[in-house]
Amino acid sequence: MAIKRPARRKVCYFCERKKEPDYKNYEELRQFLTERARIKSRRQTNLCNRHQKRLALQIKRARQLALLPYVVV
Ligand SMILES: [Zn+2]
Repeated sequence: MAIKRPARRKVCYFCERKKEPDYKNYEELRQFLTERARIKSRRQTNLCNRHQKRLALQIKRARQLALLPYVVV
């Protein structure tokens, strides 16, 4: 049984701003990470399919460049 949450206007962060996730804007990507540095789920981020996918890719890239942490302990 699914618990229905009140419908909120679903606007993707990146669509709204007409920009794309970019590893260079890692400060911006940070808000899509949990406090444990995990990528938030689609439900939590409210991003569209396309941007959630791209976001994950850019976060991974940022991690490789050590701009974002893999895990916070
Ligand atoms: Zn989007």
